[in-house]
Amino acid sequence: MSALQHHRLRDFVTQLAALLDQQPDEATILTHGSALLRPLLQHDDWLDDTFTQPHPQHYQQYLLYADAQQRFSVVSFVWGPGQQTPVHDHRVWGLIGMLRGAEVSQGFRSVNGDLVEDGAPVRLEPGQIEAVSPRVGDIHRVRNAFDDRVSVSIHVYGANIGAVKRAVYREDGSEKPFISGYSNRYLPNIWDLSHG
Ligand code: FE
Repeated sequence: MSALQHHRLRDFVTQLAALLDQQPDEATILTHGSALLRPLLQHDDWLDDTFTQPHPQHYQQYLLYADAQQRFSVVSFVWGPGQQTPVHDHRVWGLIGMLRGAEVSQGFRSVNGDLVEDGAPVRLEPGQIEAVSPRVGDIHRVRNAFDDRVSVSIHVYGANIGAVKRAVYREDGSEKPFISGYSNRYLPNIWDLSHG
């Protein structure tokens, strides 16, 4: 394969930081952030294989970049065949963009302490983006749309998402505290300007 086009992720995080410097409201972050994220999803030539490796038992969340002020983070979410998340929330804004394969998200909302499905499942195809946040709908369960192949999505969150205190939800709708962490020890080097 030819050299990885690291400038795509570098450009994205630079532009997103500049957007957040203007302290826009959340709706603006979601619309403008989606426009910035789209080129990353339209070119599958910038992500090192290290950050697309599935785990046999469960999904992987690799940190690709964290803002120095922890205003945002970028992760690759890697689904092995048939894998899914528990029902969970985020507590911050998030953009979920499909890079390879496809995934299916089912939203939920809390009604008198019970979780009920919120609308029909949403299937994301490569290039498509879905938003989450406490304002636009924050609770969902996501699964790989495929039972026979790996899928990869790129997520951007309005915090250092691996450190956010949030929740997964039991069958009865009760919350269980959850801090996701990350699957990787090292980050991609997007700052070597002698390559791509
Ligand atoms: Fe999620």
